[in-house]
Amino acid sequence: MDERIVRTCCFECHTKCGVLAHVRDGRLVKVEGDPDHPISKGVMCSKGLAATQILYHRDRLNYPLKRTRPKGDADPGWQRISWDEALDTIASKLLDIKSKYGAECVSFGQGTGRGTNQWYFRISSTFGSPNRANPSEQCLYPSITSSRMTAGKMLWWDLVDVENARCVVIWGSNRVWTEAGQTARLMSNIVDKGAKLIVIDPRFEHPLAHKADHWLPVRPGADGALALAWLNVILEEGLYDRRFVEKWTNAPYLVWVDENRLVTARDLAPDGDPKRFVVWDPLQQQAVPVDSGSEEAAPALFGSHEIAGRECRTVFQLLQELTANYSPAEAEKITWVPAQTIRDAARTYASHSPGSAIDMMQGVEGQHTNNTQTVRALEILLAITGNIDVEGGHYSARFWEEMEGGHLAGVMPREQAAKRLGRDQYRLAQAPSTVWWQAMITGEPYPIKAYVVVAGNPLSWAANSKEVRQALMSLEFLSVMDYFIGPTGQLADIVLPAAHWTERDFIADEFCRQWYFAQPRAVEPGFERWSDLKFYLELGKRIAPEGWPWKNVEEVLDYQLAPYGMKWEQLKAQHSMELEVPRYKKYEKEGFRTPSGKVEIYSHTLRSVGKEPLPAYVEPAISPISTPELAREYPLVLATGRRIPVYYHSSLRNVPWLRQLAPEPEVELNAQTARDLGIAAGAWVWIETPTGKIRMKAKPTNGIHPRVVSATHGWWQGCPELGLPGYPDDMSNANVLTDNKHCDPVTSGPGVRSQLCKIYKVEEPA
Ligand code: SF4
Repeated sequence: MDERIVRTCCFECHTKCGVLAHVRDGRLVKVEGDPDHPISKGVMCSKGLAATQILYHRDRLNYPLKRTRPKGDADPGWQRISWDEALDTIASKLLDIKSKYGAECVSFGQGTGRGTNQWYFRISSTFGSPNRANPSEQCLYPSITSSRMTAGKMLWWDLVDVENARCVVIWGSNRVWTEAGQTARLMSNIVDKGAKLIVIDPRFEHPLAHKADHWLPVRPGADGALALAWLNVILEEGLYDRRFVEKWTNAPYLVWVDENRLVTARDLAPDGDPKRFVVWDPLQQQAVPVDSGSEEAAPALFGSHEIAGRECRTVFQLLQELTANYSPAEAEKITWVPAQTIRDAARTYASHSPGSAIDMMQGVEGQHTNNTQTVRALEILLAITGNIDVEGGHYSARFWEEMEGGHLAGVMPREQAAKRLGRDQYRLAQAPSTVWWQAMITGEPYPIKAYVVVAGNPLSWAANSKEVRQALMSLEFLSVMDYFIGPTGQLADIVLPAAHWTERDFIADEFCRQWYFAQPRAVEPGFERWSDLKFYLELGKRIAPEGWPWKNVEEVLDYQLAPYGMKWEQLKAQHSMELEVPRYKKYEKEGFRTPSGKVEIYSHTLRSVGKEPLPAYVEPAISPISTPELAREYPLVLATGRRIPVYYHSSLRNVPWLRQLAPEPEVELNAQTARDLGIAAGAWVWIETPTGKIRMKAKPTNGIHPRVVSATHGWWQGCPELGLPGYPDDMSNANVLTDNKHCDPVTSGPGVRSQLCKIYKVEEPA
């Protein structure tokens, strides 16, 4: 008997936990956490531990298949084809569309991405399409875009130093459920070192809420008002880091009040530099270009001043005036969090700074129509409390610097990039997904004719599933690569079999902080399953050969590692490579990569594209305050997309070990509200919004506001082994409910976590 243990990483979600894979006679028999992994430290979640059931599942897609019946037929008439036929068909279709209509009429898409973001970027850039139809406006891009504007670099995700923080704020994030391997560092800090914990989440069912020093059950979508209330307390009570604010933010810069524009040296003198900003020198009592005031005097942080008869105020003064409208008492009316709780939590956060970290995720960013300014407000919180680039705060890591202009993603000619759909309205980020769906349906402003999807299920991830279905049905060509044939695959012309993470060679990089980890395959790929990277490579050779010059996957991985003088075989042998030891206060040497070289409380970038430069709070587009008429018919605030710890978005419901743990689509609502509506625990209920209605099972709880409900997402598959049904025809798909016509004006997120709904009993048997 041949037995061996392969040291690898799990890719069932973004976290990349270290894994010891036990293989007997070429067959995976067990996986367990790798205790020597520097991030996950032996932790794995049920999704990763179910690897054998996923790998050997009888319904896995094993060969490329093509449809032989028209779209819309219940049975697509799948016919097995070779990889060569599949690739030749896809390539000729894409090249034909490119030659007739332009490369921009092909869209590349993904959902979770299975870790191949850079290669996905590369296939679309080298082919020449700027239209990557993926859910990044709902996750990742709002925080990337916002932190680039504010601090010139990424500040979020795995760069939050929860391991060393003296105070951890969990704000719209639930990594214990979604990224279990990342929580090893957090939990050891809270449990062993006694770090303060603040949880901001509408649900007391959040696994950390009951451990928290403060729990703030914010109304979904009102997080921006709460952040401004914290800033109010911190400014009023002088709890900010004055030195950092003066020296490393643009707080002292002057702004023309009449134009809402930063004053520049050109405004002071005709030959002044228009890129040099201006502060108020309190000793000389005059405006001076930055760094040219009296040596003894720090620039004024607050105040209103006059230059040539025109009023200007400092950025910090304007921030204080903005936050003055959000005292804890005022914020309580908006956020539904008690004023004293707001004040106490803000004080705890500020008094443990520097060394306070905010772990923020999709509860805040990407899934509300006001998320950009909310994230900006949080970034300003980090900055003024001195929590950027410090131990226990937020720091930079090499991977994110690579992602933001590295050598893997490929380069698209400028004139092609400028054809991106929705670019006129969304200069800084991709347009909302409805723009692509409309381009598929109507051909306006130009058509999207083909869509190549890897590791994605837009019928589940995208808001307004009805529109998405119509769009996918309108395509000339759709290919989907995945483990199983899902609802999106069911509409495809060709489906392709993806290798499981235990069947592929890859490098774990994103969300690995400063590390690269080898992910060698534990077993040979079954049947004709390919890794996503192999697919991109072989398709790339056919549609953009100059961008894909490698013979095989190993050569691609060697290329990725070349800047570090490393080869794939070497990384595989040593398992990991630390790219860079975290260095704090890098800004002291390098500054910040923003127009001012400082953290921009007043965003020059936002102003330059006609958006609000300070983090003003705007109500969600649909809410009890912004649409009171609608709220009379739909009185409850609905947050969709609540994660289920044993599933990764819409995947894995057919895995018995996992389905046993979470068998039914659930919606949480307040126990008293349920009683008032005559709804018993476990009863089927209709959830209805102006966009659509679905059925879920009621889960009453005391741990949610009487006017808030929280629905899970991703339901479609059944699990015959357990006799548990699937949910066809969007019966329980949460995105049937969500509106996609109102989006964040900068980063385009839809309000899938801040809608209005009503709930009532299903009278007929479900
Ligand atoms: S958290 Fe779970 S699914 Fe994600 S990488 Fe770790 S074990 Fe895998």
